[in-house]
Amino acid sequence: MNIESYIRTTPDFPKPGVIFRDFTPLLAHGPAFRALIDQLKGRYEGKEIDVVVGIEARGFVLASALAYALGAGTVLIRKAGKLPHQTHAQEYELEYGSSVLEISCDALQAGQRVLVVDDVLATGGTVGAAVKLLEMHFSIALEELVFLIELDDLKGRETLPDIPIYSVFHY
Ligand code: IMP
Repeated sequence: MNIESYIRTTPDFPKPGVIFRDFTPLLAHGPAFRALIDQLKGRYEGKEIDVVVGIEARGFVLASALAYALGAGTVLIRKAGKLPHQTHAQEYELEYGSSVLEISCDALQAGQRVLVVDDVLATGGTVGAAVKLLEMHFSIALEELVFLIELDDLKGRETLPDIPIYSVFHY
C-alpha cells in the first residue's frame, strides 16, 4: 500500500506561491487510512500512551483514530472560544497577525503519557503553542510530536523544545 500516493499537492493554495499538502484523499480511502493508522499504532503500542492530543482541525481526525487504535483517550486543542469549560490559552504568531489555541483546564491528569498529533509541521508555530499549553499547565510526559507531513525547508523542528518528533513523510 503506497499511502503517500494519496497525499495531493495543490500549488498556489491558499494563496499564490504556497504548495498545499492535502491528505483528505488519504482519509477518503479506507485501506490507505487504515494502513496509516496501523503504521502509527505499530510505532506506539506497548508504550502505554494514555492520551493522544489532536490540534484543530485536521489533527483531530488522526488523533482520534490513533487513540482508538491504542486504547488511549483523545484530548482536543482548539482555536479560541470553542471549548465550553474553563481553559488555558496560548497565543502564537501567524504569517500575518496571531492566533490563540486553548485546552480545557481539566483535560489531562498528572503523570499521563501523551502524544501530540497534527497533519502538517510547517513553521512549528502551531505545535509550539500546543506544547507550551501542555508543558506550562500539566505535569505530563510528552512522549512524541507526531505529524503525517513535515515541510523540511521551513525548519519547524528547530523552533521546538527538546521533544522527540516523528513525521511519516517529509517534503
Ligand atoms: P505551522 O504552524 O506553520 O507549523 O503550520 C502548521 C499548521 O498549519 C497545521 O495545523 C496544519 O494543519 C496547517 N498547514 C500548514 N501547511 C499546510 C499544508 O501544506 N497542508 C495542510 N495544512 C497545512
